[in-house]
Amino acid sequence: MATVRQDPPQSGLGGALDPQIPVENPATGQVIGSVPDLDRCAVERLCERGRAAQGGWEAIGFDRRGEVLRRAQKWVIDNSKLVVETIVSETGKTFEDAQFAEVAYAANAFGFWAKHAARYLADERVHSSQVLLKGKRLILRYRPLGLVGVIGPWNYPLTNSFGDCIPALAAGNSVILKPSEVTPLTSLLMERALLECGLPEGVLSVASGRGQTGEAVVENVDMVMFTGSTRTGRRVAEAAASRLIPCSLELGGKDPMIVLSDADLERAANLAVYYSMQNAGQTCISIERVYVEEPVYDAFVARVLEKVRALRVGVPTGPGSVDIGAITFAPQLVTISEHIADAEGKGAKVLTGGHVLQIGGGRFFEPTVLVDVNHEMKVMKEETFGPVLPVMKVSDVEEAVALANDSPYGLGASVMTRNTSLGEQIARRVRAGSANVNDALINYTALELPMGGAKASGLGSRHGAGGIRKYCSQQAIVITPPRLAMKREVHMFPYKARTTRLIERFLRLLYGRGRRDRGRQAP
Ligand code: NAD
Repeated sequence: MATVRQDPPQSGLGGALDPQIPVENPATGQVIGSVPDLDRCAVERLCERGRAAQGGWEAIGFDRRGEVLRRAQKWVIDNSKLVVETIVSETGKTFEDAQFAEVAYAANAFGFWAKHAARYLADERVHSSQVLLKGKRLILRYRPLGLVGVIGPWNYPLTNSFGDCIPALAAGNSVILKPSEVTPLTSLLMERALLECGLPEGVLSVASGRGQTGEAVVENVDMVMFTGSTRTGRRVAEAAASRLIPCSLELGGKDPMIVLSDADLERAANLAVYYSMQNAGQTCISIERVYVEEPVYDAFVARVLEKVRALRVGVPTGPGSVDIGAITFAPQLVTISEHIADAEGKGAKVLTGGHVLQIGGGRFFEPTVLVDVNHEMKVMKEETFGPVLPVMKVSDVEEAVALANDSPYGLGASVMTRNTSLGEQIARRVRAGSANVNDALINYTALELPMGGAKASGLGSRHGAGGIRKYCSQQAIVITPPRLAMKREVHMFPYKARTTRLIERFLRLLYGRGRRDRGRQAP
């Protein structure tokens, strides 16, 4: 398989003198490139460049920005082999995980934001019931914030790091992207791709580096879009709060699946296995725990076990070569192993898997199914982020819902039942940013729907109208036409007792009769 060697950025803002971060292929252990670890000054220079370029980018308008994004959409498809290989080389994931959950997402997102940005951010004519405003023109206008910082994790370098740049750019902002130091190559590839597609110099810059580079980004931008762990997300939120800049946080998860007795067990088992194990379980909205009603528990576990035992783990060498790729971030192996050891120590049974797999220089984890689990165990409460599926027996829906909600997280959830109205009721009771009935994760592909977390899973959301409006400030504009522009209005100085009495009578007439509110407001 081709590996991708990364040249230093062309901007000259990071270069030979910067300390370098080696980038490793987790499936082979080979070092495949290195990127600069940018310091505070280098980030400041990138930000200055971004600010200088932003006005021109905003001024060319939605149509011309859309043209650049559409060219980038075509670029991603024309160069999908290179993009997939770059992602696979730095994450160790399978070609299919890179293609389906990353290339397909990015290609769709470029077209989606090119098409919808103008509509989501169009001026809105507002009608007010306020009598003082009769005849005046009220406009709600969205204005790009200026310079947006996007900070991303290592598990989806294209979708979750670069993906959030697209709506920020479509809105007319410049962007500083700080990818994970573990997987920076895809972002650097996309930076070059966008330049090739006509994005003006400086509008998008990649600030490679570690946590301190991320801190410097937060210190210099007008808004921060962060995707990563809840722990780092809190620090980012604190830093943003101290600067009084908005932040949007997409954080960790512990998504439950509930399987009711009437569910299609074959589909439930397929969804549970695929959505807990794809990307080797390193997905924020992975199924991380399953609650199954007692009558179908044994049958469900048997199906899951058969499917998990058939999964092929190993070095992805091409399409179809393996089902489960590497564990991208080495310390994650410790977390996964700890969760399993903790569960076993508290009485859980490992039906299959349970161990680290060393293949050549690469790091992998066996697809694992656990039973006899309970909420005293880390594997049911903390984010495991590996190919691990704990399955718990429940007596009824009430117990399943209570356990699903017994979590600090609230990213996604899934309910399996043939009774879709009951499924919807359950979905509404689960405290999560999204819930799928007879499905899982698929909401993420609907860019029209908001995607965000409840509780410790985040703040704000991506996608939908809110997913681009968050990159803008709102401006309220009121225009009084000359024909209504009196020299002096009735409520102005000098105050007179007669006018005050008049206004009082007017207020009584409007609001003092105890009638149903007709939407009028006090002047
Ligand atoms: P992480 O929090 O360790 O790092 C995320 C990014 O923050 C990295 O680029 C890192 O360099 C940077 N960073 C570290 N310290 C910083 C600081 N003080 N200020 C600014 N930036 C800083 O997360 P990770 O391990 O890379 O990613 C895995 C986590 O991401 C998991 O918890 C996963 O659930 C979550 N995630 C969430 C979503 C979502 O949409 N909710 C999507 C993907 C991943």
